[in-house]
Amino acid sequence: MNRILIVGAGVAGLLTAYKLSDSYNVNIVESKRDVRERAEYASGILSENASSYIKAIADIKHLDILKKVILHTRKETATIEFSYPKAYVFDRRELVYKLYEKVKNKADIKLGYRVDPKELRYLSKDYDLIIGADGFNSTVAYSFRLPSIERYLLTYKMELNADIKDNTAHIYLDNINERGFIGWSLSYSNVIELGYGINKSLSRPSSYYKHWILEKLSYYGLDKDSNRSEHASVIPYIPRRITGYKNIALIGDAAGQVKLYTGGGIAYIERCIELLYESVKRYFSNGIDMSYYDRLWKSRLRYDLLMNRLLSYAYMHLDESIFSLILKGINNKYINRMIVRYADMDSISLSIRNMLLRRSTGQ
Ligand SMILES: Cc1cc2nc3c(=O)[nH]c(=O)nc-3n(C[C@H](O)[C@H](O)[C@H](O)COP(=O)(O)OP(=O)(O)OC[C@H]3O[C@@H](n4cnc5c(N)ncnc54)[C@H](O)[C@@H]3O)c2cc1C
Repeated sequence: MNRILIVGAGVAGLLTAYKLSDSYNVNIVESKRDVRERAEYASGILSENASSYIKAIADIKHLDILKKVILHTRKETATIEFSYPKAYVFDRRELVYKLYEKVKNKADIKLGYRVDPKELRYLSKDYDLIIGADGFNSTVAYSFRLPSIERYLLTYKMELNADIKDNTAHIYLDNINERGFIGWSLSYSNVIELGYGINKSLSRPSSYYKHWILEKLSYYGLDKDSNRSEHASVIPYIPRRITGYKNIALIGDAAGQVKLYTGGGIAYIERCIELLYESVKRYFSNGIDMSYYDRLWKSRLRYDLLMNRLLSYAYMHLDESIFSLILKGINNKYINRMIVRYADMDSISLSIRNMLLRRSTGQ
């Protein structure tokens, strides 16, 4: 049977293994001893589609339902309220662990094993295919000299104890006199999550952004003593220039498969796994190398990737007053109704198509 090595047992590695292990001999190596470690560095918001996909694989219960998004600048707010659940909040530690439990019966997983570049090049002789699901700083990409990801956000996320439940995600475009800042807050099961992302080119110390956090804490009537945890991380938002060649392919954060407008990666991972599967089949049956996969997913997601580029441009170049104008537009009754009716959380291009075809996403 054809042998595949997957590096990384995060969501991307586990979902890929789940998909491929029925047809191939799949081995996974993961540097953490427990897949739950550092899982909470990210949030657990999944669109309806992505959560049904995950729930069909593993029995995972959501913590909360999101029905409302409030966009803020300092001068303006715009509320988009759905009459049905638009997204669900999951416990990331539970999510990754339940996936791991499913996959460990189908694939050979070695935990607590960090491969280094030299070893990986050596291992590549023993495997027919190597899949890098090893995150933004991918060792697989580095080992095989794939270009690095050039655009990403540096993120900071804080969780606090609080008894607020409003089924709402808040997005802050109040870019504190500085472009390239975005903040969010979210409440679920006695927790408030506060976070922000800054463009990697902004190299100010984190204390610079402290006043934003303090402002939001006072908005919720909280102080820092209710803090449960803090995490710093990275969200790539423009894909790696090459994500597949010869017998190497990258998936998830390693490939830069994340939507900029929600920071969500899992919905993209779901879409790309199907395309990876199709490419792997061609690789083994017709000898078509993995550059096919690189072209395939980038062409299927081309409109979404274009939207990511446009948004990243807006995010870096527009200031708060322009965002305020956009929010005013969203408050327009007609536009607001269109968004509620046609918005697809996973794809702006699909939202536009829905709008043009008058295809409602509501229930
Ligand atoms: C603040 C924040 C909030 C987010 N919120 C959401 C959200 O609400 N919804 C959503 O869908 N997405 C969200 N995302 C994005 C999402 O978390 C990622 O896109 C997704 O987790 C990527 O999964 P992955 O498996 O590709 O990478 P990772 O989760 O980074 O997994 C990579 C794995 O590879 C392992 N590894 C790395 N190098 C090696 C090596 N050399 N040898 C062995 N193992 C190795 C690591 O230990 C790790 O377990 C968020 C991200 C951030 C930072």
